Parts: sequence; structure tokens; C-alpha cells
Amino acid sequence: MNTHLFSSLNRGELINKLKSTSYDLIVIGGGITGSGIALDAASRGLKTMLIEKKDFASGTSSKSTKLIHGGLRYLKQFEIALVREVGRERAIVHRLAPQLVKSEKMLLPMIKDGTFGKVATSVGLMVYDVLAGVEKADQRKMLSKEETLAIEPLLDESILEGGGIYAEYRTDDARLTVEVLKTAVAHGADAINYVEGSDFIYDGAKVIGMKCKDRLTDEEFEVSSKYVVSAAGPWVDTLRKKNHSFKGKKLHLTKGVHIVVPHKRLPVRHSLYFDVPDGRMIFAIPRDKVTYIGTTDTDYNGDINDVRSNVEDVEYLLDATNNTFPTVNLTIADVESSWAGLRPLIEEEGKSASELSRKDEIFLSDTGLISIAGGKLTGYRKMAERILDLLSEKFEEDYGIDVAKGKTDEIVISGGPFEGSKEVNKYADELAKKLGKEGIEAYYGQYLVSNYGKQSELIVEQMSAYKDKDPLVRLGRAELWYTVHHEMVHTAMDFFNRRTGRLYFNLPTIVPLIKPIMKDLKSYFGWKKKRQQQEMEELEKSLKLAANFE
Ligand code: FAD
Repeated sequence: MNTHLFSSLNRGELINKLKSTSYDLIVIGGGITGSGIALDAASRGLKTMLIEKKDFASGTSSKSTKLIHGGLRYLKQFEIALVREVGRERAIVHRLAPQLVKSEKMLLPMIKDGTFGKVATSVGLMVYDVLAGVEKADQRKMLSKEETLAIEPLLDESILEGGGIYAEYRTDDARLTVEVLKTAVAHGADAINYVEGSDFIYDGAKVIGMKCKDRLTDEEFEVSSKYVVSAAGPWVDTLRKKNHSFKGKKLHLTKGVHIVVPHKRLPVRHSLYFDVPDGRMIFAIPRDKVTYIGTTDTDYNGDINDVRSNVEDVEYLLDATNNTFPTVNLTIADVESSWAGLRPLIEEEGKSASELSRKDEIFLSDTGLISIAGGKLTGYRKMAERILDLLSEKFEEDYGIDVAKGKTDEIVISGGPFEGSKEVNKYADELAKKLGKEGIEAYYGQYLVSNYGKQSELIVEQMSAYKDKDPLVRLGRAELWYTVHHEMVHTAMDFFNRRTGRLYFNLPTIVPLIKPIMKDLKSYFGWKKKRQQQEMEELEKSLKLAANFE
């Protein structure tokens, strides 16, 4: 895969290319929506470029529950078409990237006076299986109270009435975003992070490009294009305002918080989707050495560039968890990490945060700007397809250009191909053996394959370039080498958070890596003292914010 221009070290060459190329399409926003659009566009042969003002996936696309799911809760709201679409999509995304999108059985405990009664749960899960096209072997299984307690003894026996097991998929949202974007780049798209679309360029009233600002150097430059699509998530309305085309429907932002506790403090054996006393439902998902719990869903009117988990959010999730698992007694001191994100939902008169639809919406401006928001991580491919089908009509009408049909349901996502989960596990075992020879525990075989797929090979090979005594430091440095050269890492948090997931899922491993990683970043980018200091402050702030709440 040619990712030459997706190396942080070739940024100057890429910016020169952006300035001198006349694109068919500029995509604003490097979350999952923008990345999906870039892939679909590039694979149809359109000259495509994507700008992201911070790091890729630094918006909502690293703050989700990380499920590729059919959305059981939407069934309750009778959003049948949405359940059908995302249900089918999850099977496609799993096929295209089984290393990243893994099957995860979900347990739905039924309790006295809970959201779903026995009959409703059984029928609901059956309808869900049918709509989502779930294969027979994976279809829902209803359990008695005793069977439920046998597989999840932490549940409250006094109110438990039984359970249902159904099929979901789990992913890492930030990794999925980056891999989809790398696939777009391999198909000819250009993509760059830390470049903000600061304003639009017009010919008369029509948008014909973007004014861009490099946030690493403050350099300003212009990029021209036939069309501009804004996939800016929670920032979609900000850009529509800048474009003087903010009318009609608007966004309604709601905040969702997740907390992370050590798995030994909430040693659930299954992922669970359970009732909360206020009538909502939340997830508890075991992942490697931790369990993460979420999410809240509250209206948000604060600063969209600085979204934080507060004490109220954290206590809500702790109370809900302690209520369901009465023996665990989690406290705020158990919270190892957390994240808070914004859902860019579409405003509907008189509806509360939880009632708003998760459907996506396309906004067409008279200036030619096309914006898309709402939707789900799970549905990114279909959202992209809708945008590209719309653009194809425009290319035909405006330029007489016949754009090829989309085929992203056949494009293997970077890191593959794998035949399926069996091959992924076999590959992880082989990696674990190699790592074992270096003195590294088997867990890192799965860690590497889940994050990088077959690209792990390059990382394991690179380890021999380092002489550090601690093999985990050699592994971390090899990962940094890979992500700087192939995934546009520019800061410590790009690395510790969005490329490796360590900030959320393996925070204790960050401490021994801070010094060597900072040293390597300094040498890759020739950082002076001041930049190093800034970077250290940013890192410390992020670590603090993840586990300290006001
Ligand atoms: P974003 O990821 O926010 O991307 C927009 C990007 O645009 C940002 O990175 C931003 O920096 C950039 N940008 C903004 N302005 C500019 C500019 N001027 N120039 C350049 N770049 C700009 N979905 C699921 O399918 N499964 C789940 O389990 C799930 N759980 C969720 C849980 C929570 C708490 C939340 C909040 C959402 C969840 N979702 C889930 C929904 C899903 O995460 C979102 O639908 C999806 O991530 C939105 O992606 P996006 O690309 O549209 O927006």
C-alpha cells in the first residue's frame, strides 16, 4: 500500500501538492464520516482531498461506545429502517475488517419492572435478528434466571428475572477511522491532519475551494475544488454559519461520557446492556485489562472544542453500575480513565436528548456546500454512498462527467485481508509467539492485530532497531516509528490516544513510555525546547483530564 504521503515526515511535499492540485472534491473533517466519504470518492476515481483541523478521529469518532451495532434501542423507537440498515452494515464492515470489527455477544439482563419484559425481549431480539440479517448460529438466545446468573454471577439475584444474549460487534472507532482513511489514501486520496478549513473560496456565490490554515506552522494556503463536502460532525453548523447558509434544520448536540475501571474491579464476563433507574440503558464492556461503562446522554451547550467528563457524569455511571452489580461498590477512585464526546444529532421539536433520532441528514446549501451530520459510526459506509450518489448526479449535471458506481462493500480495509475471525486469531497467535521470544506477554499479539492487522509485521521487525532493556519500550518505539511513517502521528496524544488506545484501555503502560516516546518525537520532528515543553504540558493535561473530574 502506497502511503508515502501519509507519513508525517513528508508533510511539506503533501502541502505543496494540495496547493497545486485542482481537486474534484474537498472533504472537511477527518472523523469516520469524512474518511468514509474520502474512500468512496477516491475509489470512484474522483480527485479527492480531506482536511482535519486536529488529529484524525479527534472529534466524536474516538469518543463512541465503540460498537458496530444494529442499535437495539432504535427498535424501541420503531426506527425499523435504521435498525435494518445499520444491522446489515455491521456484517459488511466485519467482513471487510474482521481484525478491527469483532463479534461480541451482548447480555441483556431482564429485571423486575425493567425496560423490556420477558416476552418483549424475546420478540424484540428476534425482530432485531431478522432486520439485521443475523446468521442462524448467532441468533438470540433466551436464558432463565439461573442460566443468566451462571454466566454473570455479579448481577442482582433479588430482581433478576432472566436474560437474552444477542450478537453485536466491537471495534476501536479511532483505529477504524484511520484505517478507512489509509484505504482512501491507497486509492489515491490526499488527506492531512492539523489543517483547518478556515473559510470558503467563492466564484460569485458558489464555493470553489477552501482557505486552509496549517495548525502546526500557522501557514495559510488555498485549495481549489469542484465541490466541498462538510463532514465536520458537531462543527457542521459552525461551517454552515461561516458559509452564510445556516437555515432550516440544525444540530442538537448531546454529550456522552464513558468511564474505564480496571477489569478486576468490575470483573464482568460478558458485555452487558442494562437498565438504569431513570429508564435509560447503558453498556458495560470488558476489554482486555479494563471494563468500560457508558454512556450518558445530556443536552450540551458548552464549548464544542473542550468537552469534558464532570463529577455528575461519572457519579451517574457509577451509581447505575453499582445498582446493577450490588457487590462491586465502585467509587470515583476506581475510575482509571474516561472520555466525553458529542453526538451531532438533528434537532426535533419537543424531543429530549435520548429520544432524538440517530439518522443522518444531508444539508444542501445554495452556495453548493454539502454538509452531512448525525448517523452512526456503524453506518459510515452507507452515509458515504449517499453523499457520492448525490455528487455523481451533480457531476453529470454540472460537468457532464459520468462518475463510476460505488464499490466500497468490496474494498478490504487497510490492515487486511483476513478471511475471518479464525485467521485473525491464528495471526495473533503467531505474533504472540514472536513477541514471546522478546519476553512480551501473549496479550500483545491480540493487541497488535486488533490495532494494525497485518501491518503488525512491520512493527515487530522494527523492534530490533532499538536496544532498550524493557521489551515493551522497544515495542512502543516501534509502534511510534510505524505510526509516524504510515499514520501521520504528530503529537504524543495522537500516539497514546488515537493510534494505540493506551490512554483509555492501558493507561498504566503510558508512564514508562513517556520519556522514550518524547525523545523519539523530538528526533523525528527536530523539536526545540519550547515545543517539547508544550508537548509535555499537553500530555500531562490529557492524562489528568482522563481521570480527574470537577
Ligand atoms: P467527528 O468524528 O466529530 O468528525 C468531525 C471532524 O471534523 C472532527 O475531527 C473535527 O476536528 C473536524 N473539523 C471540524 N471543523 C473543521 C474544519 N473547519 N476544518 C477541518 N476539520 C474540521 N455510533 C456507533 O455506530 N456505535 C456506537 O457505539 C456509538 N456510540 C456513541 C457514543 C457516544 C457517546 C457518542 C457521542 C456517539 C456514539 N456513536 C456511536 C455515534 C458515532 O460516534 C458518530 O456518529 C460518529 O463518530 C460521527 O463521526 P463524524 O465523522 O461525523 O464526526
